[in-house]
Amino acid sequence: MQKIAILGSTGSIGRNTLDVVDRLSPRFQVVAISGGINTGLLAEQTARYKPEIVSVSTTAHAKDLTERLEALNTALPKIYVGMDGMLAVATHPQAEIVVSATVGALGLLPTYKAIELGRRVAIANKEPLVMAGELMQKRARENGAEILPVDSEHNALHQCLRGEKNHEVVKLVLTASGGPFRNTPREEMEKASIAQAMKHPTWQMGSKITIDSATMMNKGLEVIEAHWLFGFAPEQIDIVIHPQSVVHSMIELVDGSFLAQLGRTDMRLPIQYALTYPDRLVLDLPRLDLTSLQKLEFFAPDRERFPAIDLSYKALRLGGIAPAVLNAANEVAVAAFLAGKIGFMDISRVIAQAISTCEKQGVKELNSIEDALNADTQTRQLTEGFIAELASLTLVGKS
Ligand code: MG
Repeated sequence: MQKIAILGSTGSIGRNTLDVVDRLSPRFQVVAISGGINTGLLAEQTARYKPEIVSVSTTAHAKDLTERLEALNTALPKIYVGMDGMLAVATHPQAEIVVSATVGALGLLPTYKAIELGRRVAIANKEPLVMAGELMQKRARENGAEILPVDSEHNALHQCLRGEKNHEVVKLVLTASGGPFRNTPREEMEKASIAQAMKHPTWQMGSKITIDSATMMNKGLEVIEAHWLFGFAPEQIDIVIHPQSVVHSMIELVDGSFLAQLGRTDMRLPIQYALTYPDRLVLDLPRLDLTSLQKLEFFAPDRERFPAIDLSYKALRLGGIAPAVLNAANEVAVAAFLAGKIGFMDISRVIAQAISTCEKQGVKELNSIEDALNADTQTRQLTEGFIAELASLTLVGKS
């Protein structure tokens, strides 16, 4: 039995991971989980999988979880809190696989620690790779850790690349659904409501990644993620809009061949692949019915309406802490949009401001994980300032 720890067990990827664990029973044993604030689901998961360690957000959540487990007559695991708890889950001494499925920069340190311990890291949390991909790959090589992508596009690329030599690959092509505003005029995007931005056409996901899909920052972050995962230059990584979300990504080879991975939009496939690689096991889920597809379309993305794409390439080319700045500004801007503080198109305006400030100050190098964490903290403060300014301008405009 392989021992597995899950950062973010109550989120969409975490729940799908446990479903895969059930399907492959008794191949995996869950030894540690972290689940933030959803103590009800954490209690159920603890009762069922009996992990040794469970981590929650705060001491109040720990108390709540304890009461719920006592009510369920379940033996108490070691309960940890906050970042210490996430680190305890990520570094569980017996865990061979760590699933990194939290959202945002919060996952950076625990994921990094798991890599330092030489674990297999099945990574769904793209932000740590964006913030510090170079350092993570370096530590992985030094410590014999494997980083297996769960993000559907990168998992598809991993599958396409597994039989190929890197120098025979010309391009990585990331597909994007285009999100809810694929064909929406810019003026309407300026006024878009939270509900409109939350309507993803093909995937069911958490709120942060759904807004990132609407701005296409999700694809921008994925370009950076692909760069660090597979080592291709920014100009070798392309984005195409593919509204059907059937082709999860593809590669172009020197002889003009394209290889693609196709499948239904179900995260259990990439999760199982990342857990069991290099084995490919039966996964008994509904299959793609090719004859029902009718058409597969591909378009170039509109870089004017989706400035997040070029901002991401820019941050990647600037290097150093610039991708961490991009990521932090985006997280703060998305939260501000979801709180009704700024408009939809303001998200990319705020990020552009953060990137140009970073450029003007001279882009600092990224030599340690602390550099990434400092860039994150400083950019969050800076971006909050931009947002306060924007909000006051909007109020003046309205009066
Ligand atoms: Mg993706």
